[in-house]
Amino acid sequence: MSLSRRIEGVGTSIILAMLEKEATLREQGIEIISLTAGEPDFPTPRHVVAAARVAMDKGDTRYPPLTGTAALKQAIIGKFISDYGLEFGLRSIIVSTGSKQAIYNAFMATLDQGDEVVIPKPYWTSYPDMVRVAAGVPIFVETHVSQRFQLDADLLNHAISPRTKWILLNSPGNPTGAIYNEETLRGVAEVLRRHQHVRILCDDIYEHIAFEQPVRNILQVAPDLGDRCLIVNGVSKAYAMTGWRLGYAAGPPELIQAMAVIQSQSTSGASTLSQAAAVAALTGPQEDRIAACEAYRRRRDLVASHLLRIHGLDFTPPDGAFYVLVDCREALPEIGLRKDEDPAFVARLFEAGVAVIPGTAFGAPGFIRLSFATADAQIERGLVRLATVVAGRSDSL
Ligand code: PMP
Repeated sequence: MSLSRRIEGVGTSIILAMLEKEATLREQGIEIISLTAGEPDFPTPRHVVAAARVAMDKGDTRYPPLTGTAALKQAIIGKFISDYGLEFGLRSIIVSTGSKQAIYNAFMATLDQGDEVVIPKPYWTSYPDMVRVAAGVPIFVETHVSQRFQLDADLLNHAISPRTKWILLNSPGNPTGAIYNEETLRGVAEVLRRHQHVRILCDDIYEHIAFEQPVRNILQVAPDLGDRCLIVNGVSKAYAMTGWRLGYAAGPPELIQAMAVIQSQSTSGASTLSQAAAVAALTGPQEDRIAACEAYRRRRDLVASHLLRIHGLDFTPPDGAFYVLVDCREALPEIGLRKDEDPAFVARLFEAGVAVIPGTAFGAPGFIRLSFATADAQIERGLVRLATVVAGRSDSL
């Protein structure tokens, strides 16, 4: 069968393959501790579920408006004012089926064949592939564990060409957990002022999972970039609502309108029930969200205390999100692997009963990503298994 050029070179997700393998082992009755989850392990808050139920009962079950209900758009506008002090009008907001769709809409609406998108590395796996599906070319900028994965302005500057359409900022970041500090954001803003043709896509999906400092959006330090910035966010991570598929974006009205065209010819508006639920999430009590963040902070410290004791692993304790990216390049040769053989290392960890994601999936060979969106006991047992494999004693399990 001949397939479109659009999907040539776009691999199936390594992460999904890992999750399938995990599920298969579990079906065979083999106990595996999972440190792979890219989603909260908490339930959706009760008042949010109740709001969806009310919407369903009162017959709010017809096609939704293309770019979102008025109630949800108002809630989103209110959220941007209270969290960032940024004011957007109704025409600057679009609601989508997950933040993923908002990003995809943006690329589909703006990229022509060969246009470039600059992506800091390590990156969330889907960014480069979404760019490729939209016929664009991902261009990577390295960031380093030793610099807490901050984005270097000079490297960014060098990565920009006349074909660059976007640079992507993801803070707190997946898989690094890094939060861009003000100095980094100012440096990025300076670079952007030199390249007027480049837009900024801020993926702020982990905004509310931040431990050390409140998350700053680049528009707070550089409001002059407002006509070039698209902020993407959603309820998946902050409100434990990954299955509701509800995200949104705020940006210049012409861009939002173009994104609406793509959405109109693909999915149409996001589910009415999820939109009603999202209004409750954004405007209702925030205790569950705050408590979840506290739990992630405690687990981050738990993970860090264990990792510190494992010889040969390097990491920087994440400032946000619920992942830690561990540098295994020193440890791998000691157990007979090459420095960049994280997939083989992950396979060994699997055999020892702990599942993690290989760094290769994020453009970080030699690393692994651990998720701490799981119970303390699982984290502790998983890390004991990790330590055992790193020490070359996997047979002792
Ligand atoms: N951005 C990042 C960085 C993510 O990690 C994820 C989910 N793994 C998403 C966006 C997509 O989130 P959703 O579509 O559920 O809003």
